[in-house]
Amino acid sequence: MKRPVTILGAGLTGALMAIYLARQGRQVLVYERRPDLRKVDMDAGRSINLALADRGIHALREAGVFADVEPLLIPMRGRMLHAPDGTLTFAPYGQRPHEVIHSVSRPGLNRVLLDHAQRHYGIEPRFLQAARALDFERDELVMLDEVSGDTYQKPLAPLIAADGAGSIVRRAMTGQLGVRVREDLLDHGYKELTLPAGRDGSHRIDRNALHIWPRGGFMLIALPNIDGSFTVTLFLALKGGTDCFAALDSRSTIDAFFARHFPDVVPLMPGLAREFLEHPVGRMGTIHADAWSAGEAAVLLGDAAHAIVPFHGQGMNACFEDCFELDRLLRSAGDWKSAFDRFFQLRKPDTDAIAAMALENFLEMRDTVRDPKFMLRKELSFELERRHPERFIPRYSMVMFHHEIPYRVAFERGRVQGELLTRLTDEADSLAGIPVAQMDALVTGTLDPLPVSPAVGN
Ligand SMILES: Cc1cc2nc3c(=O)[nH]c(=O)nc-3n(C[C@H](O)[C@H](O)[C@H](O)COP(=O)(O)OP(=O)(O)OC[C@H]3O[C@@H](n4cnc5c(N)ncnc54)[C@H](O)[C@@H]3O)c2cc1C
Repeated sequence: MKRPVTILGAGLTGALMAIYLARQGRQVLVYERRPDLRKVDMDAGRSINLALADRGIHALREAGVFADVEPLLIPMRGRMLHAPDGTLTFAPYGQRPHEVIHSVSRPGLNRVLLDHAQRHYGIEPRFLQAARALDFERDELVMLDEVSGDTYQKPLAPLIAADGAGSIVRRAMTGQLGVRVREDLLDHGYKELTLPAGRDGSHRIDRNALHIWPRGGFMLIALPNIDGSFTVTLFLALKGGTDCFAALDSRSTIDAFFARHFPDVVPLMPGLAREFLEHPVGRMGTIHADAWSAGEAAVLLGDAAHAIVPFHGQGMNACFEDCFELDRLLRSAGDWKSAFDRFFQLRKPDTDAIAAMALENFLEMRDTVRDPKFMLRKELSFELERRHPERFIPRYSMVMFHHEIPYRVAFERGRVQGELLTRLTDEADSLAGIPVAQMDALVTGTLDPLPVSPAVGN
């Protein structure tokens, strides 16, 4: 167990795992194919952000790094829905003061993790070093030095593969060990754009909300940045009809599309068409692998093991939870293999559950948030939580605000609660139209008390 550990990838997962392992007193070697993002601005001024929630915060806290991250966070208290006519509706995420999610800059967070690893544990990743091939049997990792162009070999085991959704380690597991992998790509892609700060540096729309412009088959979202800007993301079909990326190939089609569907943001985004033409379309998908490790030699971690679609804002949060879990198992297991095996047995049902919920949330965000029954069900779920806090926690809250409830429990319980909400709202148009006695009887008759305190939160 005491050989130096190699971590492949110094993204969010690799950087946090390096901290966890160094805290255990292990020697850690980190290899990253990109340049050091603390020295090179790789996104040419683009500010890409993510939603950080309780699971991610818990893992950052346990690693002792949350205090460094906190200054980067902007709390978002709910969704601000933008109707086509410009009407705004605010739907809070939770009903307690701590029930918020946080917008955080991806490169900012990555920098903080790398700085922390360096300052506290002397970890200096080797940047511009790309894994090119692996041989599990011969315990060999072939690396390319992107600066000199030379290749070299190093011992492989033990290897933690935090090399993202396109993981070369996962592909080697498939080729050499027969690991079966399914990659389900969406027919929708995404494009990131900017809504700049006002002249005085302030946010031009509410900074404490995640803004959504749901339009049925597609949507626009915006998350705030510390510099007063928002990162705006368009999720849209790749092909088919007039409302798709393939059709938006000129200034005039882009301007017309935004004027038709998102008229309220057009005046706020002066560089819209130029940025649109310059920025790439990203792909999204879910990765299911039927094994995550190669004996005691290697384990997949984070997106390399289980990339998911971004609609629950949980990909990174799940990756951080992986780091916490793997650290815990490595501390208690006697050998790498049993820690890796146990990690898969424990985490796979949870990551399958969040993968499914993230896909469901795509429909909810782009579509059902416009449905009046959606608002009623949301209102009712808060009411049921108030009346029965030990039995009913809205599914969104279980996922986002309760790290002590595993994803698989949130998913299973969420299904039962969803049926209950549909039944209670079927005939009603408002909360007042639902008999309290019926609510109480259904909740106590259907849901066992949760094994956790509903008051837990960050
Ligand atoms: C549009 C979008 C929005 C998202 N929003 C959210 C959100 O709001 N909240 C949330 O929790 N999650 C979100 N996610 C998910 C989140 O971005 C990922 O789950 C997270 O970045 C995964 O981190 P990772 O370190 O595992 O992988 P990556 O971030 O992919 O990092 C992998 C690293 O490995 C390096 N690497 C790859 N191959 C090699 C190699 N051969 N040799 C050496 N190095 C290599 C790469 O250069 C990279 O630095 C979003 C994702 C997308 C696409």
